[in-house]
Amino acid sequence: MFNEAKINEKIIDSHLHLEEWKNDEVGHFLNAFERYREGMNLDGINICALNNHARGVANNIMIALYKLVNKGTYAHGALDHIVKPIGKNPDGMDLVTQYRELMEIGFDGIKLIEGKPTVLKPIGGTLLSPYLDALFCEMEKDGTHIVFHVNDPDEFWDDELVPDWAKSNGWFYADGTYPDFWTVTKEIETILDKYPSLNVTFAHFFFYAKYPEKLEAMFKKYENMAVDITPGGEMYLAFEKNHDFYVDFFKKYSSRILVGTDATFPWESYTHAWSIDKLYRFIATSDTTMAFCDQNLRGLNLDGEDKENILYKNFERRVGRSTPKEINKKALLAYFEKYKGLLSDEELSELSPLVDKYLR
Ligand SMILES: [Zn+2]
Repeated sequence: MFNEAKINEKIIDSHLHLEEWKNDEVGHFLNAFERYREGMNLDGINICALNNHARGVANNIMIALYKLVNKGTYAHGALDHIVKPIGKNPDGMDLVTQYRELMEIGFDGIKLIEGKPTVLKPIGGTLLSPYLDALFCEMEKDGTHIVFHVNDPDEFWDDELVPDWAKSNGWFYADGTYPDFWTVTKEIETILDKYPSLNVTFAHFFFYAKYPEKLEAMFKKYENMAVDITPGGEMYLAFEKNHDFYVDFFKKYSSRILVGTDATFPWESYTHAWSIDKLYRFIATSDTTMAFCDQNLRGLNLDGEDKENILYKNFERRVGRSTPKEINKKALLAYFEKYKGLLSDEELSELSPLVDKYLR
């Protein structure tokens, strides 16, 4: 089915997205990742909800339905910022209440994309908001796992270095209207100083592959934080450039690094297969592959506990379980009823028949 061989050891793809209703390859979104999962022999997938392309509510309901229909699926829910910039949501829809509802529905954690410049700007340009603060406080108390996208590659703030593909996606941040890369990293440190036990995995290596000494300082200071190695090809250029250094770094911090592809439906599943194959071979073999950014990438050839930590154990430890939470249909139906007024006509017409079929 794919050019890539099945992976013959346990692996969980900790970072996927479900964004569309259907594609030509597998049809309906409720089949989105099953061909990929089966074809590559994955032991688990974790779908992260997003609130930046459409309403978080709609994406949460899609993903919760996916989890209900396809056993063995982990999911992280997203919060809906009904008021932008972040302010007081309507009564009963504050972020902490939404968080509690998502956990009751059966999400395994929370996805925050609020630190990505294009999301951060419209919610007010700073992560130091009392509304987010209340949420971090609760999530630290509960030990809930967070997958948190903060910033983007720092080249995207640089006129000379920003790649054309990033520019054409609207990801160029040097026009003075976006929060600054280093200001946002400082805000994260302020949050972690206040909530040092936060069970947080920063996506894309916290965009620190060029600055491993800074990442190391954070690992030492905040004992519960981790990063994933979801591409960002720029990260792999840095790994390859400092290969020997990174072999040691990955061994030393093998309990703080997770594997994820950013596999996104409606992309075709061969792209996901290509990506997980590269990641697996980067961690577990000494193969040289043509990897992200069309550059050679030498494998780190980790073994034993180091390898297993990164391939799946860290994810299981951080969500606190080795099987996904069950979906609570009653709680999901109640969530749909409560928030359906926020859905677009299209979202409502796609989701209502599924809610009738699976939840009533
Ligand atoms: Zn992502």
